[in-house]
Amino acid sequence: MNHLRFVNGSAILPDRLLPNAEVVCNRGKIESVERARKRSNSKGQIIDAEGGFIAPGYIDIHVHGGDGADFMDGTVEAVETACRAHARHGTTTIFPTTTTGSPKQIACMLESCGQAKSRGKTGARIAGVHLYGPYFAADKVGCHALDGRRSPVEEEYERYFATGLIKVATCAAELPGAEAFYRAAKRRRCLVTCGHSNASWTEMQQAFDAGMRHVDHFWCAMSSVPSIRQRLGVPMQASMAEFVLMNRQMSTEVIADGCHLAPELLEFAYKMIGPERLLLVTDSNRALDLPPGRYRFGPDSDGSWFESDGKVGWAPNGSLASSIMGMDHMVRQMRTATSASLPGIIRMASLTPAERVGIARTAGSITVGKRADILILDDRLNVRRVFVGGVEVESGVSPGTASTARGKC
Ligand SMILES: [Zn+2]
Ligand SMILES: [Zn+2]
Repeated sequence: MNHLRFVNGSAILPDRLLPNAEVVCNRGKIESVERARKRSNSKGQIIDAEGGFIAPGYIDIHVHGGDGADFMDGTVEAVETACRAHARHGTTTIFPTTTTGSPKQIACMLESCGQAKSRGKTGARIAGVHLYGPYFAADKVGCHALDGRRSPVEEEYERYFATGLIKVATCAAELPGAEAFYRAAKRRRCLVTCGHSNASWTEMQQAFDAGMRHVDHFWCAMSSVPSIRQRLGVPMQASMAEFVLMNRQMSTEVIADGCHLAPELLEFAYKMIGPERLLLVTDSNRALDLPPGRYRFGPDSDGSWFESDGKVGWAPNGSLASSIMGMDHMVRQMRTATSASLPGIIRMASLTPAERVGIARTAGSITVGKRADILILDDRLNVRRVFVGGVEVESGVSPGTASTARGKC
């Protein structure tokens, strides 16, 4: 049977809720979205939302791993494990993200993601890779292995771009060669981003002129007015933060796990940047859905160690080492921490990332003609069922597991 009818729930559209909706899908695509009629003549298998929500699948453009696997482990199995873990948390489109590492490790990551993509057994659909590490600033490398970072060299990154997999490309704006990197990434139609950087306003403006339009995890591993003062002296200069807040063509993302950013910062980002330019990302590492303990961030052979306390990762020096939560958690955290409407919150986890990476024609919202990437959520926004292209994947995470844990860090 090709038809699916999602009923008995409110559909979450980009700009409003549609109560008592009927969403019909056929051959993996959304065929109609309307208010349910008393006597429907549509055929197909009924998917009962049980009074909850019919939501678009989430899109995560910044994610390192889950369920014990890091995308940098370099095997197809690791890629599939991490993707399936995130699908259980509502992510239906995923962009596996590199850490710092050797050229060989990054090439291996791309190779394994390419193979997993064509095997199509990943749950969450791989729509591309985020080339994140290795082009970070040495003073903003965060929990990534320092010896795996370097400045961009054309010969190296052109090999990565040639795979055709990279759709999001990060580089710190102050590095030698950054502008050429941004131009190359723009030519490849990537979302071009600046992250793990201590860039000044002037450097950001040059990066912007070369095509940079996004900043990774706002407030984390990025410059501030005091950090620029330390680097470049007086007069005090504006930083990445002011550049994003002032320039309406820039987008950014927050790690809304409740551990990286306090509620007022999430509300500030939402209010100042808005749901059309602010994305939710998980930035999740391999400890997602695993018990507290010691894990490697990045490749399992030589990635840097961190400690998961069951809520977040901690680097040995006491700084945060990325999140261990799925997108469902980020969505719930935004609902408790901010004044954003539910359609606005879901937009930041679906349509906004789709628009920024250029896949909004086929994904990102419950819209006729788009792929049937659909979630059934309960009224507390727990993921109950997950459909990718109209095919149900292993269902959602039951409340009570690590990733639905609430509370302060
Ligand atoms: Zn980072
Ligand atoms: Zn990250």
